[in-house]
Amino acid sequence: MKAIIRPGSRNEALLSMQEKRESNARSYPRRLPLAIKRAEGIYITDMDGKQYIDCLAGAGTLALGHNHAVVREAIEGVLRSYLPLHTLDLTTPVKEAFIDEVFASLPHSFAEKAKIHFCGPTGGDAIEAALKLVKTATGNRAILSFQGGYHGSTHGALSITGTLGPKKNIHSLVPDAHFLPYPYEYRCPFGVGKDGHHIGTTYIENLLDDPEGGIVKPAGIVVEIVQGEGGSVPAPIEWLRELRRITKERDIPLIIDEVQTGIGRTGKMFAFEHAGIEPDVLVLSKAIGGSLPLSVVVYDKRLDKWEPGTHIGTFRGNQMAMAAGEVTLRFVKDNFLPEHAHEIGNYFIQQLKAIQKDVFSIGDVRGRGLMIGIEIIDPTKPANKIGSYPAYTELARKIQQECFNRGLILEVGGRFSTVIRLLPPLIISKEQVDEVLCRFHEAIISAEAQFGLC
Ligand code: PMP
Repeated sequence: MKAIIRPGSRNEALLSMQEKRESNARSYPRRLPLAIKRAEGIYITDMDGKQYIDCLAGAGTLALGHNHAVVREAIEGVLRSYLPLHTLDLTTPVKEAFIDEVFASLPHSFAEKAKIHFCGPTGGDAIEAALKLVKTATGNRAILSFQGGYHGSTHGALSITGTLGPKKNIHSLVPDAHFLPYPYEYRCPFGVGKDGHHIGTTYIENLLDDPEGGIVKPAGIVVEIVQGEGGSVPAPIEWLRELRRITKERDIPLIIDEVQTGIGRTGKMFAFEHAGIEPDVLVLSKAIGGSLPLSVVVYDKRLDKWEPGTHIGTFRGNQMAMAAGEVTLRFVKDNFLPEHAHEIGNYFIQQLKAIQKDVFSIGDVRGRGLMIGIEIIDPTKPANKIGSYPAYTELARKIQQECFNRGLILEVGGRFSTVIRLLPPLIISKEQVDEVLCRFHEAIISAEAQFGLC
């Protein structure tokens, strides 16, 4: 499915260079064929001057949108100060101020017993660190994670990721990774829908206690509070509390991956706060660097059994990212952006549910805060026994393309690539949300008509 690119356009010139020179593994440009000239707030302008609303926002990275004044000022401040731009893991005032802000943003009861470790700059790197941390601390080797979960592309992170596509040609992934069912109501793994999550936690508890269960006591369980790449699937609060109880009672470290959900996106500073639980290990990246690459693990210090130098890496001292991250954390708190994400996210979901009634192919609208999923289904096929319709991958792609043509950038993900995902910057206003809704509504009507649904 190729997007229309005007011949002779500057976009096309750069895109064709990209196609010739970059690897076949490139992903976003295939579905969002633009070359970017500038970006500000929620807007991106391409090389031909077309403006887009960016509801992808660096896959949820840009809490404050593009080029926010406080972020630019922080970066420029580092440049003006002649601090080293690169410090390995040596400390600086910028680094200590960043750590102060991270700890001040966490619930006090967790912060007071926490330690922080700076990882290589991406979310996947922090997941690697978390896995090694709990394996070292417990002496155990198995890791449990969840079907539909996404934790990164490195060998270890991929091993505990549900998505099969990127795994199928990679042999010898990290052994002893096991997958548990995630409470995904629309495509309930137990085929019961709403109450499936009770079965899920009962299953996990029995599995962990079953001497014939096939899985040795794990080093840790890794979970997303809202599965992101898995299709914006929020776990029920009760399920999360049960998972925390089960892991605590068995002394199994719970690793909460907030790479995508962290820093206000779901309506709380950290998504685990919705359930009133605390992690043993918290994995952070994306928004924590205020647009620049940075990742950390923050964990209960009883797990700090690492020997000096056992988890290292060259690029762990990006001063500009720490300065940008510090001001982003502060801006998010001072401007009540988690509360804003909660309110505007509810409005967004409510309006999308109204659109759902007006069209044929939306099976489910769900989310928490500004992490929203719209599940596209084929209504011409029979529903299953819980009333869920089959995925409609091609239609979801067409809707994405029609949105793109109307100047709206959004992601498609989830099971069977059938979930339209909205991850706008947290600063998005109600008027801007209305504009997104208007473009989306037009796009879905047009796409459905092209697929004969009208
Ligand atoms: N964990 C989660 C929950 C993510 O959403 C992602 C990236 N989408 C990662 C880990 C991996 O992060 P990165 O791509 O920066 O390695």
